[in-house]
Amino acid sequence: MAAKRLNMRKRYEALTRGMGWETTHQPMDKVFPYDTYEGIKIKDWDKWEDPFRLAVDSYWKYQAEKDKKLYAIMDSFAQNNGQLNLSDARYINAMKLFIQGVTPLEYGAHRHYAHLGRHFRGEGARVACQMQSIDELRHAQTQIHTLSHYNKHFNGMHDPWHMSDRVWYLSVPKSYFEDAMTGGPFEFITSVSFAFEYVLTNLLFVPFMSGAAFNGDQATVTFGFSAQSDESRHMTLGLEIIKFMVEQHEDNLPIVQRFIDKHFWRAYRVLGLVAMMQDYMLPNSPMSWKAAWDIYFTENCSALFDDLGRYGLRMPKYHEVATAEAEHLSHQVWATFYNYGHAAAFHTWMPDVKKMDWLSEKYPNTFDEYYRPRFETFREMEAAGERHYINGLPQLCQVCQIPMVFTDVLNDPTMVSRRVSIHNNSKYHTCGDGCRDIFEFEPEKYIQAWLPVHQIYQGNCGGSEVSEVLDWYNFQPEDGGEYVGSADHQRWQEWKGTAESVSDDRTQAHAS
Ligand code: FE
Ligand code: ZN
Repeated sequence: MAAKRLNMRKRYEALTRGMGWETTHQPMDKVFPYDTYEGIKIKDWDKWEDPFRLAVDSYWKYQAEKDKKLYAIMDSFAQNNGQLNLSDARYINAMKLFIQGVTPLEYGAHRHYAHLGRHFRGEGARVACQMQSIDELRHAQTQIHTLSHYNKHFNGMHDPWHMSDRVWYLSVPKSYFEDAMTGGPFEFITSVSFAFEYVLTNLLFVPFMSGAAFNGDQATVTFGFSAQSDESRHMTLGLEIIKFMVEQHEDNLPIVQRFIDKHFWRAYRVLGLVAMMQDYMLPNSPMSWKAAWDIYFTENCSALFDDLGRYGLRMPKYHEVATAEAEHLSHQVWATFYNYGHAAAFHTWMPDVKKMDWLSEKYPNTFDEYYRPRFETFREMEAAGERHYINGLPQLCQVCQIPMVFTDVLNDPTMVSRRVSIHNNSKYHTCGDGCRDIFEFEPEKYIQAWLPVHQIYQGNCGGSEVSEVLDWYNFQPEDGGEYVGSADHQRWQEWKGTAESVSDDRTQAHAS
């Protein structure tokens, strides 16, 4: 008699249920040493609802189909010199930031979900983490393969792994991720699966993908879609783990809420890079950061937390600060990169007249009042041959590692927001209440932070001259600085057969 074929769900159950056992040669606590010390209490791992429901054979089949399509599109993009159809070469700077800052996190996620796939006591949770680990490796690979085409034609993409470990602004995403990885398994999964992938991921992927579509980057749109179908499974895992923890034991609730508060804030701070990408680096912006925040955070997350309210969970702490900052964030971050553009492996520039008007329209409460005057001054300085860079090093937040450029948006947006904590008679500075609370809960963790500015001053980054530090980063001289007149810009003009005049645009700025 032929064996009855199991449906996919049954196959997944067979894969994830009854495969574990109580160990006898060694106590369970020694075999699974990491899943209790955070204080999360699990009474019954069998109550775990499998979020993926995809057995390994069907998983490989689906992913292979997706990869086949993706690689076919990448091939044709390369053969047809797809880079020539971009809206403008400025666009590529967003992709440089992506491969330097985001792709290494995908690889980090691959590594750490594999760790969780070994160390959770429940086999259902272990299998889900193994599957996600494979997804994340694939994300890192497809991103590298897609963007390698641009590496042939543009500067700054030649050594993202080395850069990720050393460069000041890449220490922001790296330190967030390593903060999660050095927490326990429940903290990590809350951070990445819930705070990042469930709550905030749309703010990375939607603008980034529609941004790619608006700027003629078909290759990136394709890898984005290919990753997003995995993302929906990851989001299911994020929601499942939260509900599972709070349902298992009442003692878990305050711990889970603290994880959510902390990692919402840390992940949100990293998204400052996305905000500037969206509003300033995309030549054609489909949507402003503020508009995306209103939809993907304010609307969607209020609904989510209304639902989670029945478990006793509330909105992440300081979400109202993040919402108030949405009117300022991209402008403050871009101004910082413009000032330190000589020490970045992507180009910066001042927005042209059209872009400034777009910003005024999208940010009626803030742009003209706080940012336009400064940016117009910068443009006048450029026109006078005085494009400036700042050579001094900024103070960094001890937690998020971002230079202290954020302001007190709730009270006085012209005043820098800064908090001071004392620990063992030393002073530590943070950028606001969100980072301060994180510091003060675990000061012994954050006093060890590898702060790029401190490391440079201590002589650990190649030398004391800017050029020595940039060498140590493996930046080439043509990687950073002003876009106008850069090697990327010149190449673009040669391809397009234009000598696009920046001075026209500047004259307009003066006239207005
Ligand atoms: Fe991923
Ligand atoms: Zn901070």
